Amino acid sequence: MGTERSAVTVIGLGQMGSALAATLLERGHPTTVWNRSAHKARALAERGARLAATPGEAVAASPLVIVCVLDYDALYATLDPVAGDLAGRSLVNLTSGSPEQAQEVAEWARSHSVDYLDGAIMTTPPGVGSPETMFLYSGSRTVLEAHRPTLAALGDPLHLGAEPGLASLYDAALLGLMWSTLTGWLHGTALVGAEKIQATAFTPVAIRWLSAVTGFLTTYAAQVDAGRYPGDDATVDVQIATIDHLLHAAATRGLDNALPELLKATMERTRDAGHGSDSYASVIEVLRKREAGA
Ligand code: NAP
Repeated sequence: MGTERSAVTVIGLGQMGSALAATLLERGHPTTVWNRSAHKARALAERGARLAATPGEAVAASPLVIVCVLDYDALYATLDPVAGDLAGRSLVNLTSGSPEQAQEVAEWARSHSVDYLDGAIMTTPPGVGSPETMFLYSGSRTVLEAHRPTLAALGDPLHLGAEPGLASLYDAALLGLMWSTLTGWLHGTALVGAEKIQATAFTPVAIRWLSAVTGFLTTYAAQVDAGRYPGDDATVDVQIATIDHLLHAAATRGLDNALPELLKATMERTRDAGHGSDSYASVIEVLRKREAGA
């Protein structure tokens, strides 16, 4: 009670930036906001946000500046003209981008004496403020520690390392995992849906299955790190035979089979590379090879 909350500035009040600012206001942080289109700040002003007239005024208002705009072009367009005002302050960048873009901003920040932390938000706006939500960070650990209470108000901060591109790298990897999982679930939902089973009936069973799958991930992670894939649970050969059941059931019901066909082709390349008797984790050998040859 009575603890002073640190002042913070949020630049970019799209769907995500507005959620960040609203959460910081809710937690009692004196919050200054700026957005290119000023009308988006109105609802936040009603909740107590201080409106900055310019990016320079926004930056000057707080020791910690959080930026969350569409992309890196928008970031530079907004911050480059006020780099001098940012000097000596902490900049936390929650704009999505590539690891290389994060490294470039880190370099830009260093050249302007700005303390820089890159971040990635692993949720949609309604998840901001939940302690369950991961906020991935990379770059200056000092910035995270100096502003931990403020940043922890947004979600659980995970610092991945000093290399600024790491948060974006993990973000890309985790989004790939999300899209593959969602598309696999939707394919399965369409398959059972062809027999009039509702998505809401199938999904609790799918979720139980996913928790078994997380166990496979843990087993296979150790195999990937060791570079050895003992096929003592289920071999690639067995998976190739099994996926034919999915292909047949889905084709019979008129479904688009592009996803399982891609998966089968990848398994076959793994077998052809000599891993037929190995575990599914050996698929990584084929994925790595294609990456290197791309
Ligand atoms: P959004 O609602 O489209 O908002 C985009 C923001 O960028 C607005 O504040 C917009 O200003 C600003 N902007 C665009 N071009 C600009 C420019 N040239 N100069 C200055 N400002 C500019 O997008 P969002 O959902 O908030 O996403 C913002 C960032 O968060 C993105 O990098 C996104 O990938 C990331 N993110 C979003 C989610 C999500 O669920 N929404 C989740 C994780 C990460 P105006 O209002 O003036 O157009």
